[in-house]
Amino acid sequence: MHALGKERVSWIAWQRKAASRLTQPSNPATYGETKTLVRSKFRADWVAQNGGYRADQDPIRKLERNQQTLIFRLRTGHCGLRAPLKRIRITDTTLCECGQADQTPSHMLQDCPSHEARRREQWPDGTDLRTKLWGTAYELRRTASFAASLGERL
Ligand SMILES: [Zn+2]
Repeated sequence: MHALGKERVSWIAWQRKAASRLTQPSNPATYGETKTLVRSKFRADWVAQNGGYRADQDPIRKLERNQQTLIFRLRTGHCGLRAPLKRIRITDTTLCECGQADQTPSHMLQDCPSHEARRREQWPDGTDLRTKLWGTAYELRRTASFAASLGERL
């Protein structure tokens, strides 16, 4: 019993010694594995920042395809307005035609005086930006309809 115990201890010691001499095996992640890791990291960060977004519960799913596209572009800011286009050097100015501010989704939906009449018609209640972009399907349809009427390349 005592001898066996001693033998076992020396076996463990030998294993540890051997393991410490080994270098890390070369085992690079495949493109697919890397993509999955990056994607899940982005998703985790997004959830942490936005308080648990659930794509399957996003009312955008209830919209027509062209409306979904408009809302998605307005949410992400990747659209044909001047501010986003200036970032990728397609236009020289970020300034809106009204000359008062950068032409961003927020400016167009909330503030641009050029679209004040149309905005009041669509939102007589003065809806906030969050509701316009992240509200119910009804709200998102109102936003898509307004955006489609702007005549801007969204
Ligand atoms: Zn403007």
